[in-house]
Amino acid sequence: MSAIGSYIEQHRQRFVEELADLLRFPSISTDPAHASDVRRCAEWLLEHLSSLAPQRVELFPTAGHPIVYAVWEGPAGTPTVLIYGHYDVQPADPLELWDSPPFEPTVRDGRIYARGATDNKGQFFAHVKAIEAVLRTHKQLPLTLKLLLEGEEEIGSPNLRPFIEQHRDLLACDAVLISDTALYRDDLPTLCYGLRGLCYLEVTVRTAATDLHSGVFGGVVDNPILVLAHLLDRLRDGYGRVTVPGFYDCVADPSAEERQRLAELPFDAEELRRHIGAPLLFGEVGYSVLERRWLRPTFDVHGIVGGFTGSGAKTVLPATASAKLSFRLVPYQRADDIAAAVTATLRALSPPTASVEIRLLHGADPVLISPDTPPMRAAARALERVFGRPPVFVREGGTIPVVGWFTELLHVPVVLMGFGLETEGAHAPNEHFHLKNFIRATLTSATFFHEYAHGEGAIS
Ligand SMILES: [Zn+2]
Repeated sequence: MSAIGSYIEQHRQRFVEELADLLRFPSISTDPAHASDVRRCAEWLLEHLSSLAPQRVELFPTAGHPIVYAVWEGPAGTPTVLIYGHYDVQPADPLELWDSPPFEPTVRDGRIYARGATDNKGQFFAHVKAIEAVLRTHKQLPLTLKLLLEGEEEIGSPNLRPFIEQHRDLLACDAVLISDTALYRDDLPTLCYGLRGLCYLEVTVRTAATDLHSGVFGGVVDNPILVLAHLLDRLRDGYGRVTVPGFYDCVADPSAEERQRLAELPFDAEELRRHIGAPLLFGEVGYSVLERRWLRPTFDVHGIVGGFTGSGAKTVLPATASAKLSFRLVPYQRADDIAAAVTATLRALSPPTASVEIRLLHGADPVLISPDTPPMRAAARALERVFGRPPVFVREGGTIPVVGWFTELLHVPVVLMGFGLETEGAHAPNEHFHLKNFIRATLTSATFFHEYAHGEGAIS
């Protein structure tokens, strides 16, 4: 790998400049005013990838933003890897909290600051530069590589699942590789093998056709805010354990081995408590903090509205109140089943004095990946070569719906090999990516191609 390593070192400055060019596009997928910027970003990628002589490269239009797709054929008989990334970004506001403008990439202290730096442009662009490094030093990749870059991840990938369903041949592969997760700690190579799922609901309680005078009607009409508060309170106990009947039926208990592995990760609960600013950490009895964050399902309320919240006093008896709530799910819960169970529970608890409407806004099933597949083992070897120590295996508490779709529709293992850090400000002001990790990601990616193509015991 030394030729590839020195190529990356020699061209490091240009790689960073090209990443800056990519970061300059305000490819904010949620904002219609930026639709043309999203498109220009996709076109820039198309042109950039074309310069690496793929066998095929094209933009696929969708009902929303385009998908960028490219293929480099490897030698016959070698495996195929599909790399997924997303070139759209979150909105950058509040702008006044940024130390440098979000779409004018700036390098400070070895980090590149810009919206999208770590989520996800910097991370997927490392793979693009790995492809370049291998091609320029070895003429051909050691395996077949397909690249799929979508422009709608930050709005829930509304057109990606149908695209995968309609293009199974185009996307056929032996493994999917995604760099959109985090290193557990800086300098600690990390592979993620589990993600929580999500069941997101909106509940609206109505007790009258219109707002009423609480003096005139109070005492004969129920109060929707109190009904809603009561319903929400009945969904969990004082330790956060969900009280919906059947909720835990499909929850897999962690094995003793997994609990041991998690217990061995460097972790300081008191440091986390101080960082968050919580008076005391919360959660289920009998599980460690990491287990509660990664292995256990949860219930949270995200917002609640109803009645009068302006200054002063208004004696209104409101007609409605509503809340947005979600359950983080773990294997082998299913979002649809949980939505049905929660809906039935809320209906059973609803008093006859109120009508309760429940809407499912978003669902994604949890993911659990075997750490012992050939691509996962190849990723572990590649990380060890580059970082000089074997990776730690972690789960994450968040949700990446696309991982479940690849597993379900393409029937192949997914490798989650991220190079970001939780502290890099994804979705927040001053988002950045450590350039040292950008370069390490590039080298690890190229090493992975080699390790996966040639298998265990490969000579570099
Ligand atoms: Zn994101």
